[in-house]
Amino acid sequence: MLTEIMDLNLTPQELAFRDELRAWLKANVPADWEARRTEDEMLERFAFLRAWQKKVYDAGWAGVAWPKEYGGRGATLMEQVIFTEEMARSAAPPLANVLGLSLIGPTIIGFGTDAQKKRFLPNILSADEIWCQGFSEPNAGSDLAGLRTEARRDGNDWIINGQKVWTSYGWAADWCALLTRSDPESAKHKGLTYILVDMKSAGVEVRPLKQLTGETEFCELFFHNVRVPVENTLGKENEGWSVAIGTLAHERATLGAGMQITFKRQFDRLVELSRTVMRNGKPACEDPVIRQKLAQSYLEIEIMGLNQKRAISRASQSGVPGPEGSILKIFWSELNQRFQQVACEILGPYAQLTKGNGHAIDDGQWSYSYLRSRGNTIEAGTSEIQRNIVGHFVLGLPKSY
Ligand SMILES: Cc1cc2nc3c(=O)[nH]c(=O)nc-3n(C[C@H](O)[C@H](O)[C@H](O)COP(=O)(O)OP(=O)(O)OC[C@H]3O[C@@H](n4cnc5c(N)ncnc54)[C@H](O)[C@@H]3O)c2cc1C
Repeated sequence: MLTEIMDLNLTPQELAFRDELRAWLKANVPADWEARRTEDEMLERFAFLRAWQKKVYDAGWAGVAWPKEYGGRGATLMEQVIFTEEMARSAAPPLANVLGLSLIGPTIIGFGTDAQKKRFLPNILSADEIWCQGFSEPNAGSDLAGLRTEARRDGNDWIINGQKVWTSYGWAADWCALLTRSDPESAKHKGLTYILVDMKSAGVEVRPLKQLTGETEFCELFFHNVRVPVENTLGKENEGWSVAIGTLAHERATLGAGMQITFKRQFDRLVELSRTVMRNGKPACEDPVIRQKLAQSYLEIEIMGLNQKRAISRASQSGVPGPEGSILKIFWSELNQRFQQVACEILGPYAQLTKGNGHAIDDGQWSYSYLRSRGNTIEAGTSEIQRNIVGHFVLGLPKSY
């Protein structure tokens, strides 16, 4: 049970860190970012985000809580959280290497050899090497351990064959954290191996998938007899499940980081819009039902902030993300869907206008956010799976499978 007492006050050291970072962001957040955010060209936008991450890294702000010897800042988890919050508060562009920074780098820190840490971590921080996560397959999503992509040993190499799907950033990635089946005879959760695969290896094929928003944020990956040196195994051969669980815990804990501040910014903007957008001949904010819904969204965004602080407080004590990651994941993903629905109700037909339409409010940001929020309750584990985790690991109920 989650009974620890939280200390929510920033220490003098944390306040100094926040103020220094705030000043740096004020001086360095690119002025043309808002305009670039609405550019259509995904590759160009990504090159811009990569250059931004390099700048953040060169100034010593990337990998705040990562060890200094691998290019990080060696600061506390709380300072990492302050970094994420300040980035969102200043509306800074996101860092390009999202999965490398939040899931795969921390997994390499936890399970990698010293040589792997030296080889991979600094390039994750500088965005010189972008990462993707090759876990899900057409028949293995929630039931991840049912995956079938095969890794077969051939001397000092693995030979990989199979297919992954929904691979975010597959189109941009230099490296893939790939979960494979290396021993088909073992029980489901055994016989898996976690392998770091160079995406430029012969036999790797990437096919983009178009999603609801019109973007091709994720891809299908195909592996045709791809050779990977055995030294790229992360953790032990046939013990990849525990490494993968490490990645998933980081994913649940970090994916929503910074979102609360983003939601707050969006909420403030929505309140402003509700004063001017007309509904039944009056400003929307005068409609009693709309006011109720705005107040409810406000409460939920505040509660999300408190949930986050509890998770951080606990992780600071234990050093690893706990099951609160699932509470957070359920809460922010479902909150966002409710909030975007309220925005649509307030904006009425305007909410359906997309980027580039001259009449769209905020250049179609609201229709994009509504459509993108649908994936929130699926990515990083569906709401049902997160509830299973809470039921078993937080409440101590028997497993559902
Ligand atoms: C935007 C986005 C980005 C993604 N990025 C990546 C990525 O980079 N890398 C990657 O590997 N994957 C990625 N995914 C895939 C994601 O992890 C899977 O879609 C997710 O785990 C669900 O798997 P599935 O799609 O196979 O659905 P299924 O597992 O087939 O689930 C179908 C439905 O059944 C329910 N269900 C399944 N099992 C249970 C159970 N035991 N109890 C109760 N209900 C259950 C689910 O909740 C869901 O509603 C991404 C997905 C999205 C939407």
